Amino acid sequence: AKSAGRNTFCFYNHSMSNQARDRLALEQALREALAGDGLSLHFQPKVTLATQAICGAEVLVRWSHPVLGPISPAIFIPLAERSGLMVELGAWVVNEACRQVSELLQAGITLPSVAINLSVQELERLGVAEFLADTLERYGLQPSMFEFEVTETSLIHREKVVIDVLQRLREQGFGVALDDFGTGYSSLSYLRKLPLSTLKIDRSFVVDMTEDEVSASIVQTIISLAENLNLHLVAEGVETIEQRDRLMEMGCDTVQGYLYYRPMDLQELICLLSSSNAS
Ligand code: C2E
Ligand code: CA
Ligand code: CA
Ligand code: CA
Repeated sequence: AKSAGRNTFCFYNHSMSNQARDRLALEQALREALAGDGLSLHFQPKVTLATQAICGAEVLVRWSHPVLGPISPAIFIPLAERSGLMVELGAWVVNEACRQVSELLQAGITLPSVAINLSVQELERLGVAEFLADTLERYGLQPSMFEFEVTETSLIHREKVVIDVLQRLREQGFGVALDDFGTGYSSLSYLRKLPLSTLKIDRSFVVDMTEDEVSASIVQTIISLAENLNLHLVAEGVETIEQRDRLMEMGCDTVQGYLYYRPMDLQELICLLSSSNAS
């Protein structure tokens, strides 16, 4: 390894500058997507287990790069955060989600609830609660129909500011969900501090629960906790019938995952909801 040192060093430098250049190019492309019409939205339905009815949908942003094709939000959301684009991107999501939801309602279709992810930078934006309320009002939408999903990692910095904002949102009639529950450092203490309406069990526990009894106990405990605290509970990433059946036995009421529906565009959602409204 030592003898390869010099070459490795050169290669390393070379690849680092490539990486930096790629990142810059990707950032530039994202900027253009945001300025043009390069972003789109998908909706992933949530299902009430007892009735198998669709009880809501989560809004997920999509970006297809002109050359590279679809890029995962797990890549471009952090990129937007690092490059100061997140507030603008988040505002685009909220506005576009409201526009599409109002289109859906105008088509005479009902959807009980819509969930939108908010990142920390959006939560820290000055006047975010007013921005959200104003945007909904512009589209004639009721706050009670909307829920905002936040992760606990977004709460680590400036905790007080974020808690105040969430409080404001709840007072305005919005729901607030704690996303990826159980994966952070202080999940339990946040249950006391945050004005929550919903807990979302992270997919990693759902994946492991049919293989491993510790994960199963964790899921069972979170379900009981939500029940006792009077919170809605959503299990995310449900892919198998076995997971679904186990969740149902454990008293979970709502699930989201590929077993039922993949994220889809508005037209597909409208088709799905009009056929399920009719049946
Ligand atoms: P998330 O909020 O935890 O969203 C759930 C992710 O799990 C989505 O990935 C969804 O497509 C995926 N998923 C749903 N069901 C299943 C399943 O059964 N199996 C598997 N393997 N995956 C499933 P996606 O759309 O790639 O989004 C990744 C993350 O990017 C989201 O995680 C969220 O943190 C972030 N994100 C997406 N859209 C937005 C947005 O509009 N704003 C913000 N701030 N973040 C967003
Ligand atoms: Ca989410
Ligand atoms: Ca999640
Ligand atoms: Ca996640």
